[in-house]
Formats: sequence, C-alpha cells, structure tokens
Amino acid sequence: MKYRYAEMTWPECRAAAEAGRAAVLPVATYEDHGYHLPIDTDVVLCSEICDRAVARLADEAVLIPPVPHGYSPHHMDFPGTLTIAWDTFINYVRDICVSLAHHQFTHILIVNGHGSNTAPLEMAARLTVLAAEGKVACAAVNHWGVHQVREAGKTIRDSEYGGNSHAGEYETSLYLALRPGTVDMDKAVDEMNPLPPSFQFDLLAGKRPDASLATYMPYWSTMTESGVRGRATLGTREKGEAFLEAAVAGLVELIREFKTIEIPARIDHH
Ligand SMILES: [Zn+2]
Repeated sequence: MKYRYAEMTWPECRAAAEAGRAAVLPVATYEDHGYHLPIDTDVVLCSEICDRAVARLADEAVLIPPVPHGYSPHHMDFPGTLTIAWDTFINYVRDICVSLAHHQFTHILIVNGHGSNTAPLEMAARLTVLAAEGKVACAAVNHWGVHQVREAGKTIRDSEYGGNSHAGEYETSLYLALRPGTVDMDKAVDEMNPLPPSFQFDLLAGKRPDASLATYMPYWSTMTESGVRGRATLGTREKGEAFLEAAVAGLVELIREFKTIEIPARIDHH
C-alpha cells in the first residue's frame, strides 16, 4: 500500500483521508552542524525517521512531503544556514495543515527535527485547530521527544547532561547510521553549553531536573565556535542504529496514540 502522499493520485489521497489515516508532516531546517556533519542534518534525520515510521503504518498513516526550511535566525552567523521569518514559517506550515484538513484528514501530526522550530510549530498546530473550528486534531512533536528515544537515551548515551544537544552524540550517531559516507568524524569536536543550569537543555534529557525551567536563546555564535553543542566525538553508527529504531518505534506508537484522540463537537456556552 502506498504511504507517501506525493506518490498518490488524487483519488488515492481522497481514499486515504476517508480511511481515517493520520497525516504525518516532517519539518526541519538547513543549518550548520559542526565541521563534521552536513547542513542537511535536521532534514535527513527527521525525513528518514518519519518515512520509516509511516512505512510500518501504511494502512494507518500517510507521509506528507517534508517542509525542509525552518526558523533559524540565530544561526545566520554560520554560512549554510537558511532561515524563514517566524510568521511566514508559522503561516506556511499552518496552510499545509489547513489544506490537509480541507481534504478531510482529521488527525495531522507535525514531526519536527530542529529545536528552534518547536515553539513556531506548536503555534502552527494550534492555529490549524482554530482554522478548522475544532474539527481536526493537529499536534506537534520533536523526534527526540518521543518516549522510546528518551528511554533509549538513558542506556545508549555515553555523554553527561548536555552532550546530546545540537550536532552532539544523538544527531551525529543518527547521521552515521543513515548516511555514514557524508560524515567526517575526524573533524568532530565537543563543545558544551556555557549557560548557567536553569538555561541549559539536552535533547534526550530536556531541562535539568535540578534547576529552574527557563528559556534563553542568544546568537549561536556566542555559545560555540564550531557550531556544535554537545559531545559529537561520542557519536557512533551503532548508537545511531539503536537511536533510529527507538525513534521509529516510538513514532509508530505515538501516531497510534494520536489517532485515539476523539474530536467531540464544541459547546458554545453563550
Ligand atoms: Zn540538528
């Protein structure tokens, strides 16, 4: 059964929506990922994880073509970065989701592969629900946020807290598992987060449990020379394969869980 939306004819798109299949939309960005990883890291990781997950759920989900460009103005000191204005980006993603809602998809899951897309994509999901007047469920998740990845992180990672940030152990390992020929591990370096504890973040561990939950995003070039934040040198293909399986299996489970969300009619209490 076809699971890639782009490969379907229009009657097949209609049938997919009628069958209640969830629409899964990968979103990422092009930006610096150290000296060792290509600028397409977020796009490759997110697209591949989504493709593999939806392939396992072909009768329950549909893979929407990815949105490769995202919100990354704080990375523009690094050549290679392409960024979209925050409001253009939110509206663009919302318009894709609203199009899917128009075509009768009721469950739309945005899967994100770039940290700074998180807030705009949460807004795009909410705006989609509002645009559809509550008749669709639209949600967003980061691929490192799925339960199995966070669980896998506890046993697979070798780095301390902070080692799995941008271009660190997790992303480097995943890229090595997917496209080993395009990673130059001889150029991998480690750089850790210079901010105080309440402002730190780790892809697999989230905010520090021993600090306050605050957020601060300065220009990337003020925090790292190479572009890396984390332990890139600890990335291995073996860890990447384990992370990949956790991400794919976790996303499969999340899509199934998402589809159990019912969409009751609104009650206007005026
Ligand atoms: Zn990345």
